[in-house]
Amino acid sequence: MTRGISTARAAGIVTLVVAGLLGSAYVLGRSLVPDQPPPHSTGATTSADGPHYADQPSAGEPSAAPSASAAETGPAEAGQDGSGREAGGDNLFGAHSTTGTPRIALTFDDGPDPRYTPQVLALLREYDVRATFCVVGENAQDHPELVQSIVDAGHTLCNHSWHHDVGLGARSADAIRADLMRTNAAIRAAVPNAPIVWYRQPGGAWTYPVVSVARQLGMTPLHWSVDPSDWELPGANKITATVLSQAEPGSVVLMHDAGGDRQGTVEALRRILPDLTARFELEALPTDPT
Ligand SMILES: [Zn+2]
Repeated sequence: MTRGISTARAAGIVTLVVAGLLGSAYVLGRSLVPDQPPPHSTGATTSADGPHYADQPSAGEPSAAPSASAAETGPAEAGQDGSGREAGGDNLFGAHSTTGTPRIALTFDDGPDPRYTPQVLALLREYDVRATFCVVGENAQDHPELVQSIVDAGHTLCNHSWHHDVGLGARSADAIRADLMRTNAAIRAAVPNAPIVWYRQPGGAWTYPVVSVARQLGMTPLHWSVDPSDWELPGANKITATVLSQAEPGSVVLMHDAGGDRQGTVEALRRILPDLTARFELEALPTDPT
């Protein structure tokens, strides 16, 4: 009996000590967070839940359970915060939301997709524009020839997680690392020498761990500043109008070449490119970001 009590007491003390150590480690970890200024003075800030819904919540998996319910509550906020310009706090954890130059970067997420990626590539070729493709690992694995086409055309690559996991940032650092590495491995299987120096968190649902792991793996977190919410299928007119009215020097434009019916995006791109290339210089995000 006595032994039982003292064992219980000892266990309690051990628990307290472990909790204390974990607390210290947490504080230490937080103190190691680089003290970064907001990425750009004109950069995106979003309300607490905005970014979560601003990117397409679940690529190519309309029935995906975990993010589906969240997505259904999202459109109103995505509409308000789609441009990423609403005030409400910076929860980008230092992710880049502009190019940092006068040039504009078009980014295409969630592919590659055999229906739409070739159309996007053809339009970009027609206007001699290089862009950046944020590819989903399983799609890269399924369509390595499209990843090859992207790189062959001079576009740059961005890791967009293995399975478009909007909740990835809430998982353990080890789980995040495994997901990002698996995605990079699938991309490298297609294009062994192509640099992968950008990471875009699905849904823009950034967390400190996901930003930290991406940086550890040599990838710079990439957000956006112009979001026509094309994944909500607003139609080519609206996508075109949003991009053309919001684009400004340094914009990073978010569009999707996969994850659903993207013919509206393709048609919008056909209208966007002549105007945008007349007003701005467009660039693929560099493979040597600082
Ligand atoms: Zn996405």
